[in-house]
Order: sequence, then C-alpha cells, then structure tokens
Amino acid sequence: MIGRMSEDVLSGIGLVKRFGETVALGGVGLQVARGEAVAIMGPSGSGKSTLLHCLAGITRPDAGRVHLLGQRIDTIGERRRSELRRTRFGFVFQFGQLLPELPAEENVALPLMLGGMPRTKAVGRARDWFGPLGLTGKERRRPGELSGGEAQRVAIARALVTEPAVVFADEPTGALDQATGHTVMGLLVDSTRKGGASLVVVTHDPEVARWCDRVVEVRDGLLRGAAGAEAGR
Ligand code: ADP
Repeated sequence: MIGRMSEDVLSGIGLVKRFGETVALGGVGLQVARGEAVAIMGPSGSGKSTLLHCLAGITRPDAGRVHLLGQRIDTIGERRRSELRRTRFGFVFQFGQLLPELPAEENVALPLMLGGMPRTKAVGRARDWFGPLGLTGKERRRPGELSGGEAQRVAIARALVTEPAVVFADEPTGALDQATGHTVMGLLVDSTRKGGASLVVVTHDPEVARWCDRVVEVRDGLLRGAAGAEAGR
C-alpha cells in the first residue's frame, strides 16, 4: 500500500466516448500515481474496457484528455501512439494473446525485438523474467504446451520486459480458475510494483481488486467514487 503520490504517471480528465447512441464514457477522470495499482470495477457494459482503452491510447476519446508523464497523448498521431504503447505501456489481456508458433521466451522478447533490439539480447532479457514469475524451465515451450496460468504469467513477462511506465490488464484472470487466478494476480501486482510500473486492471472479481492500492467503480459510463482499498489511503 502506498500513499497518494504527488506525481501522477497517467491522468485521464473528462473522458467521453460514444459508440453511436451508446455513451460508453460520460466524462470520467482518473489519476494514477507512480507505482500505484488501481482496479477498475463495475458491471458488464459499464465502460471499464473503454476507459482502459482511452487511457492506454488504443481508443481516442471524443472529449477529454489523457496525459502520460505530463505529456498529452490522446491527440498525437497513430504512429506515435503505437510507438508509445510499445515502449511505455505493457498489456495483459484475458486470453494472453501469445503467438502460438513462438516459444514462450520469444513471445516475451517480441516487444524488445519490435523496438530493434537484436534477438539474442532480447531473448536474454526475456529469460530474466522466467524465474521471478515461476516459469523456470518453460522458456522453450510454445503457448499450446503451457497451462492457462502459465500462459498468463508469460503474458505478464511480455508486458514488463520493456520496463513500461504503466501496465494495463483487462480481466487478466477472467479465463482462469479461482486459485490460479489469484496466484497470477498476486504475481502481476508484485512484479509490476518491483518493475516500478503503475498498474491499471479491469476486473469484476472483488478478490482480484483486493490486491490493488485503490478501487474505482464505473457505472453507466461514470465513476461512482471510490471503494474498498481507497478507505485506507
Ligand atoms: P465493460 O468493459 O464495462 O464491459 P465496455 O467499455 O466494453 O464495458 O462497453 C461500454 C458500452 O459501450 C457497452 O454498452 C458496449 O456495448 C459499448 N461498446 C463498447 N465498445 C464498442 C464498440 N466498439 N462499438 C459499439 N459499442 C461499443
């Protein structure tokens, strides 16, 4: 648990996003401090993923602003936003989204190689994450040869290998049984914190949210104030 820090790594202000008649976000602000883990909760269809996508530069909001380390990122061009996503952000999705034909270590190394790092060096860096994530010996396995929990741990390593400022996770344990999900969530929060990154995680599992420093709740595209761990801050 950390106290509220003065420096916000990521800041969303007045975010609005419509899909036709649907108001997915009706004006949402969310600040994330350095090293802070924030859980976004709320019922299905309330706007959680849209909020995450706006903060992560995947979706451009119709109104509002997003700042990363003081720099406005919602208005920059797609090429720079995609570079930003690759270098400053890490992503963990519900179904790992690993490339099935690549061994685990190369899946993890991929973001570094896409950034121009030579393969041997990138794979070396990738391997450093296997021990801390309990994946020793699984380096050469392909995703099809891993359990669901192991595949998600590989996805966590891939999200952290670039030493991002923020890791975004959208229902990272949604496809796992409860015990495995909790192990994976613990590893996600711990390793993100050790890597010095902030974490924004969308979940509908209150157990998952317990690992985070703060919980915010989205209802009908609006933030409903904070709950849970917020009281301890
Ligand atoms: P949650 O993540 O809380 O389940 P979403 O952010 O995915 O909610 O969706 C919020 C609302 O926006 C829902 O009504 C959903 O149907 C709608 N929505 C989300 N993405 C799209 C899209 N690409 N096109 C049309 N409607 C969308």
